[in-house]
Amino acid sequence: MFGVVPKTMWSKRTPADDQNRILLGLNSVVVRTGRHTVLIETGIGNKQTAKMREIHQNTPQLPASLAAAGVRPEEIDVVLNTHLHFDHCGWNTTLHPDGSVTPTFPNARYFAHAGEVAHGRLQLDRDRVSYLSPNYDPLIESGQMTLLTTEGIRADPEIFPGISVEEFPGHTAQMLGIHIESRPHGGASEHACYIGDLIPTAHHLDPTWVIGYDLDPVRCIAERKRFYQRAIPEQWIVLFTHDHHTPAARVSLNDKGKPVASALSL
Ligand SMILES: [Zn+2]
Repeated sequence: MFGVVPKTMWSKRTPADDQNRILLGLNSVVVRTGRHTVLIETGIGNKQTAKMREIHQNTPQLPASLAAAGVRPEEIDVVLNTHLHFDHCGWNTTLHPDGSVTPTFPNARYFAHAGEVAHGRLQLDRDRVSYLSPNYDPLIESGQMTLLTTEGIRADPEIFPGISVEEFPGHTAQMLGIHIESRPHGGASEHACYIGDLIPTAHHLDPTWVIGYDLDPVRCIAERKRFYQRAIPEQWIVLFTHDHHTPAARVSLNDKGKPVASALSL
């Protein structure tokens, strides 16, 4: 998770266990716009082999988390995936004991970038383990998933008013950030951005602390700087996919000019 950053440095921020693992979140976000209920990201899901579960020690819990929050799967109108790595779209579909796979959110329209699907289908040595087609192919085949294109996003980044997507390339070639903007009557507007794996946790705010999974770490450094140019002065709420302790924060620069997080309680 920390690429070329030495363990002597990152372990001060987040300690590893005896197998060199750190605690990570799989943070999904539900947005109720008043008209739509949107789900951003769907975690790892329930399709992992026993061996992979043993390695990652993850618990398949999105359905239970949604139930605890009073959100029924049938209520979700839109599911957005920042990219199609297995830890971001796992609960797009559910694996049943008979081996069948069905959409977890039967009434939702799913959105992902077409480039992610194309890349996953190449099954390259570098990252084939990250692309598990049962997480998206059934949805594409049934027409339930809309595949966004770079040109289409440039022409119109809005999914609907208040929710829009923007490419932040580097982790993958077309990774999406999700913008959430509230425009309350009379009150101050708020802007949140779910930044996916461009900045997976609050420990990764330093532009050079990029992760080993990034396909283009140099591009990630540039994209983080581009992100801060708006996120810091406009005081965005930054939503981190993989930070268990700090899922949401505002970012500012400290006296050394380094970006730091002020956690928000949700
Ligand atoms: Zn991830």
